[in-house]
Amino acid sequence: MEFCPKCKSIMMYSGSKAVCRKCGYEKEVSENDDALVIRVKRNDNDVPVIEGENLKTLPTTKVICPECGHNEAFWWMRQLRAADESEVRFFRCTKCGKTWREYD
Ligand SMILES: [Zn+2]
Ligand SMILES: [Zn+2]
Repeated sequence: MEFCPKCKSIMMYSGSKAVCRKCGYEKEVSENDDALVIRVKRNDNDVPVIEGENLKTLPTTKVICPECGHNEAFWWMRQLRAADESEVRFFRCTKCGKTWREYD
């Protein structure tokens, strides 16, 4: 939801713009997060879950799955919450779908 910076009214969406119906102010609306190549969401263990088709674009590597013992998994990098934390590598088993993070 957008609010007009001039009169604080709620703005209506019109194509790629948000338009104030009260004073006519127009503002470009930026693209939403669906444009991201990889959509991730957190669960309680800080392991993001990758959804849908995007999985096919991930690189794979030789690593042993702790769940089923399979030796190949997708992997990706992700920075954790704080900016001063280092990047963490995540794996997802190509066979059983188990997702886990690489610990130091
Ligand atoms: Zn307005
Ligand atoms: Zn597995």
